[in-house]
Formats: sequence, C-alpha cells, structure tokens
Amino acid sequence: MNAMHDVIVIGGGAIGLAIARELRSDRSRSVLVVDRSGIGEGASWAAAGMLSALSEADSGGPFLELCLASQRMYRGFADGLVLETGIDCGCATNGSLHLGMPDDTPETLRARYELQRQWSPNVEFLYPDELRLVEPLLTARVHGALFFPDDLQVTPRRLVRALQESCIRRGVEIRSAARVEEVSKGVVRIATEELKAKTIIVASGAWTSELKGLDPPAPVRPRKGQILSLSTAGQPFRCMIRWDNAYFVPRPDGELVVGATSEDAGFDRSLTAAGIGILLSKAQAISSHVGSFPIKEMWSGLRPGTPDGLPIIGRSRVPGVFYATGHFRNGILLAPITASIMAALVDERNPELPIEPYSPLRF
Ligand SMILES: Cc1cc2nc3c(=O)[nH]c(=O)nc-3n(C[C@H](O)[C@H](O)[C@H](O)COP(=O)(O)OP(=O)(O)OC[C@H]3O[C@@H](n4cnc5c(N)ncnc54)[C@H](O)[C@@H]3O)c2cc1C
Repeated sequence: MNAMHDVIVIGGGAIGLAIARELRSDRSRSVLVVDRSGIGEGASWAAAGMLSALSEADSGGPFLELCLASQRMYRGFADGLVLETGIDCGCATNGSLHLGMPDDTPETLRARYELQRQWSPNVEFLYPDELRLVEPLLTARVHGALFFPDDLQVTPRRLVRALQESCIRRGVEIRSAARVEEVSKGVVRIATEELKAKTIIVASGAWTSELKGLDPPAPVRPRKGQILSLSTAGQPFRCMIRWDNAYFVPRPDGELVVGATSEDAGFDRSLTAAGIGILLSKAQAISSHVGSFPIKEMWSGLRPGTPDGLPIIGRSRVPGVFYATGHFRNGILLAPITASIMAALVDERNPELPIEPYSPLRF
C-alpha cells in the first residue's frame, strides 16, 4: 500500500501527539501519527506530570528559558484541551516545595533562593516553622525550603488521552501497532509497507536510535524510571515536594505519586526490590505519615535520555526529516513548546526561541 501525507509523525507519545495536533490547528495539511505499540503507552504514560521548570535549575540559559516558556503555556494548553475534548488532564497549580538537603545550611539555601529569584520572582524562602504551615504532613528535618507557588502538575495519562482525542477531532489519522523500521527522504517504511510524506517528524522517544536511515544518528538512550503511588485517603498532601532525588506529586483524588529512580538498564522495565525499596524509604524520610498508606500502583517507564541531557529538536540532514526527541525528564513539561517550535519549522518560520542548543547535528 502507498499513501501520501503532508506530514508523518513517528511516535504517539505526548511529544508526537502535541506536534500532530498543532500541525492540524488550521486543518490545512494531512497528518498521520504512527506508533509501534498503543498510543501513549511509552514514557508519557509513566510520567509523574510535575511541571517545574526550576526544579533542577542551578544556572540560567536557553534550556531554562525553554522550560519556563513551556510552563507558561501550560494553563492555556490544558484549558484548550478540556474545551475541545471534554477531557480534563488534571492541570493544577499547587506549587512545589524544594527541601534543603541535610548538608545544606540556612546560608547555602539562602544563596539558592537569591539565584532562583532571578528567574522566578514569586519563589519564597521558608524556615522550618513556616514550612510546616505550608505542608503540615512534612516530617523531614531540614533547615528550610524554597517554595515555587507557580509550579503545576498534570496527570500524564489523561493528558495523552486528551491529546489523542483532540488529534482525532482535528482529523489527524492515527495508526497503532505500526513499527517504523526505516526513514528516508519522503518515505517511512513499516514492515513491507511504504508510507510517503513531504515532512517526517521523528518523535519516537527512547527507541529513536533503533530507527534505520537517520542522518545524523540520534543518540537517545533509555533511562529507566521506577515510580509508585500510595492512597493517602483523608490525609492529602497540599503541594508537590522534592527532596534527595525523590519527589511527591499529590493528585486531587488523594493519590500520592512517589518518584522516581533513574537507571541505565537498557530497555528492561522490570520493577525491582532495590528500586521500589529506595522510593519507599525516601518517601518515609519526607513524611513519616506515608508508612501506613496502602500502595496503590507501581510502574516504570523509559525516559528518552541524551548524552548532554538536552532534547534533540530540529532538522536532520535528510531533507524533510525533523527530530523532536530526547526530552529525557521533561517531555511532559516541554510538549507545548516543542509542538509550537516544530510547527514553526515545518512552516519555515523562525521558532519563538533559539533552538541551536538542541540541534541534531551537535553530537
Ligand atoms: C518515571 C518517569 C517520571 C517522569 N516524570 C516526568 C515529569 O514529572 N515531568 C515531565 O515533564 N516529564 C517526566 N518524565 C519524562 C517524560 O515522560 C518524557 O520525557 C516524555 O514522556 C517523552 O515523550 P515522548 O512522546 O518523546 O516519548 P514517549 O511517550 O515514550 O513516546 C514515544 C512513542 O514512540 C513510539 N515509537 C518508538 N519507536 C517507534 C517506531 N520505530 N515506530 C513507531 N513508533 C515508535 C513508542 O511506542 C512511543 O509510544 C518522566 C518519565 C518517567 C519514566
């Protein structure tokens, strides 16, 4: 079978779906999304959904600008999805607390606060007694914390459903169980079938380096994350909390997501005693209350990691082939801005932010 499309997007995760949706906003071009498994069953299904541009920022620069820009777009993005599809992706601004580490002193925390204030004027410095007022269930002994009141969360599984539904309503064609083996100029090969398109967008997440024909190759490696959730029934946490490479994302229905490991384990997604054990022990260090909460679910996913931790966004050397992959720990946060940048590139407009740092040619 031969089929011609204006655009084929390889990968139906948050990134691929957000791009396909954006490209169909004026209904002027035909867009097909193909996915090797079910739509939205990759990393996007596994994510916690924390939207916190500043959570890992110790310095400014273009990547922080990219994250902040996407975070600012999120409310409108989520509201647009609810209006269009009726699916609420759980976008909520409940803020995040970044607790000081045991070796932090009030002075080192204060210095971090001054730094973060350059990018987030609303950030607050909280002393231990103030901290307990913001989050009464916290029991970790810390010298203080930074509070980011503008941080948001979404429920990624709902986000992906809403994006898929929006794509369908906008006339995007979607094919699951269709594994792309090779890409070349204007052609996507699935088993014995060749699909043709003027533009091909590679949004295949952790599996990108398995695709044949990419030039340059995209050095994306899977980075396993184990994650779990607890039922807090009647004892809900108020805000998101980050501490010692672990985090809490409390959902409005009382589910408390506790994340996440970061492991170099290839494509293995098994849950391990060590991985789950460390999450449970860090969770109890943040709040001793969680020890009595029932475990609701445990799962894992593969983040699309890159050698420098930055996404790969831009034109490849193969004419008409673009990359939007390697979003590592921030793909849910970066979905709106990535979609907007890719639409600009496909339309041959200048993207709103510089994309040179994410060039596929940089490796
Ligand atoms: C435990 C965990 C917690 C996370 N928490 C957060 C968070 O709080 N905030 C945040 O912003 N990010 C978070 N992330 C990161 C985020 O999930 C990813 O960056 C994001 O989901 C990447 O989206 P994607 O669409 O590129 O990849 P995916 O969602 O993995 O989608 C890629 C899709 O491509 C398909 N595909 C692959 N190869 C082919 C092929 N050859 N042919 C056809 N289809 C193909 C796959 O089947 C898959 O559906 C987390 C990730 C994990 C694992």
